[in-house]
Amino acid sequence: MIDLRSDTLTLPTPEMREAIARAELGDDVYGEDPTVNRLEAMAASMMGKDAAMLVPSGTMGNLAAMLTHCARGTKAIVGSQSHTNLYEAGGASALGGIVLTAIANTEAGELDTAELAHELGTPHDEHFAQPALVVIENTHNRCGGAPIKLSHMAEVAELSRRKKINVHLDGARIFNAALALETTTKEIASHADTVSFCLSKGLGCPVGSIVCGSREYIGGARRTRKMLGGGMRQAGIIAAAGIVALTKAVDRLAEDHQNARALAQGLGLVAGLNVRAVANRTNMVVFDVDGDADTSRRFAAAMKERGVLISPREATSFRAVTHYGISRDDIDRSVAAAAQAAGEVFGD
Ligand SMILES: *Cc1c(COP(=O)(O)O)cnc(C)c1O
Repeated sequence: MIDLRSDTLTLPTPEMREAIARAELGDDVYGEDPTVNRLEAMAASMMGKDAAMLVPSGTMGNLAAMLTHCARGTKAIVGSQSHTNLYEAGGASALGGIVLTAIANTEAGELDTAELAHELGTPHDEHFAQPALVVIENTHNRCGGAPIKLSHMAEVAELSRRKKINVHLDGARIFNAALALETTTKEIASHADTVSFCLSKGLGCPVGSIVCGSREYIGGARRTRKMLGGGMRQAGIIAAAGIVALTKAVDRLAEDHQNARALAQGLGLVAGLNVRAVANRTNMVVFDVDGDADTSRRFAAAMKERGVLISPREATSFRAVTHYGISRDDIDRSVAAAAQAAGEVFGD
């Protein structure tokens, strides 16, 4: 199977398995796992922050970050299309009493700055829940993996800082963003007070995400993580793969971006498929299928019969993601499968 559903499907590299087997371990809740400590120091330095914290998932990273930033009854301002708004089971509201306040996203994944300014201008009047945090996502998953320009990040940071409101960056795929924007993760993260990123997507780790921020902030976030049940003991087992990811896997993301471009180009030539344009493509391709929901279902089934899995998005659109484990040859085979599947579904 050529599995293009998500970059979370990556399996650890042989080098990661080796590092996991050899990892030096201790109890991380005591702060005594040397491998976790090494990974956290490395991650903090790459993000230009003082400190970092390993968490089991990106969802817990964002949740711990939001709970640490926001008191109950305060607002976290998020994009309507953001992962925090759509795909985290409402955790910030359910577990933290946070008023998740969604504002419009542009198609390119940017926050609507007029709406942001309006929300940030919430009067101090006792009627109103007060804003406490702005969350920005880069790259933007739901918006086709678009990298968010530094100028927009800077504008969001400036608007927020003027009101003394913190910014959290959901940088699940920040390394893809840095590659596409030809900058460093540190430069991107400089426009946020805290940042989370995933080790378990394109970087190939089996488990794990990281939250970075000031020493004081991460101190508070560690208590939140414990409360959420995310205090892990010999977590060096996970961190060992993370260290391999940060030293070795970052450089191969360029291959994923090239493969996504080739896939977009190939699918774009198939009659009945319409690839959505992205100004600066990273590792995702979103495309629409002509016809109705049933046509789309039949198209996906015909792809599956030919050994290619794609992820349904809306009734007539799909997402395909390139990652470690998908070669250029797999891309060519996927395009050929799509041409055959479309031929079958639309009749030629
Ligand atoms: C995947 C993802 C997350 C959450 O990561 P999990 O490890 O799956 O919980 C957060 N934000 C974005 C943008 C993501 O794509």
